Amino acid sequence: MKYYIGIDLGGTNTRVALIDANNKIIKTAKEKTDPSKKPDRVSYQTAKLIKKMQSGIEIRKGLSGVCIGLAGLLSPDGLSVKIGPNFGWRDVPFAKLLKRHIDIPLMIVNDLTAVSYGEFAMGAGKNSRNMFCVYVGSGIGSALIIDKKPYDGSSNVAGELGHIKIREGGRLCGCGAKGCLEAYTGGNSVRERLIELANQDKEGFLYKSVNGSTERLNFSHMEKGFAARDAVCTSIWTEVRDLLSMAIANVVTVFNPDCVVIGGGAISNTPLLLNAVMKDVRKYATPPSCSVLRIRKAVLGDDAGMVGAALLIKEKLDLT
Ligand SMILES: [Zn+2]
Repeated sequence: MKYYIGIDLGGTNTRVALIDANNKIIKTAKEKTDPSKKPDRVSYQTAKLIKKMQSGIEIRKGLSGVCIGLAGLLSPDGLSVKIGPNFGWRDVPFAKLLKRHIDIPLMIVNDLTAVSYGEFAMGAGKNSRNMFCVYVGSGIGSALIIDKKPYDGSSNVAGELGHIKIREGGRLCGCGAKGCLEAYTGGNSVRERLIELANQDKEGFLYKSVNGSTERLNFSHMEKGFAARDAVCTSIWTEVRDLLSMAIANVVTVFNPDCVVIGGGAISNTPLLLNAVMKDVRKYATPPSCSVLRIRKAVLGDDAGMVGAALLIKEKLDLT
């Protein structure tokens, strides 16, 4: 039997899944990512985790490859991390560092590529052919699947919905540019705005909802304020709803997928917003592009990345 390992390498947690040739999940593991976030330390920890998953002679002999999904921009050959925002990495040759510790075929993909492939193969996008996946978490991530295959683009950076520009000279984004969608709708950016607004009005809903501990504010406080008809929260909530819906709808209009999957830590805590966005995508996309469109909530949660990564390396090695 052949085996494959998928890893979701996050800034906080590292999740690993081992699957067999029948796509059955044999085992999973989770540990805290090395807090130093140094490339040497993280690669050592990742390699150690892979070795731990290989325990048992049959698995050791049968392990065919490993795929790692992480947030950021990758080099065109997929071996280096050009920008890894969760780790503060710039041009880190991560595949090379891992190869010092383990000798096995490996690939690195954007985290959303892995997540979307997981949802496509085993989750909300099952039976889809052309799928668009959007995650609203601390930032905005997205990925495309075209003709049942992940679409990487010409230089391996396709699908960066979070960094489309929506305001000339607008708010500063984590990527260093101004006016990106993520700077208006990503969890971290919304949180920053909520804190700013809460501190400006100590009698307001936001400030009171956390008893003045404004650093605790997040997406769900915005939604609670919206539900309570607070004007400040309603204005941000509505802006996030409109901007996200329009951005996703524009992708639907251009790319005509049969399925859109929406998930992520921030938006899964705001059901009113999620449902409103799911509804409004149809309002803003051209009617013909919606004729066979399904819009679904992501269902695999934190498992999507590791499972998707394992399936991606399996698919790749099966083809070669
Ligand atoms: Zn940006």
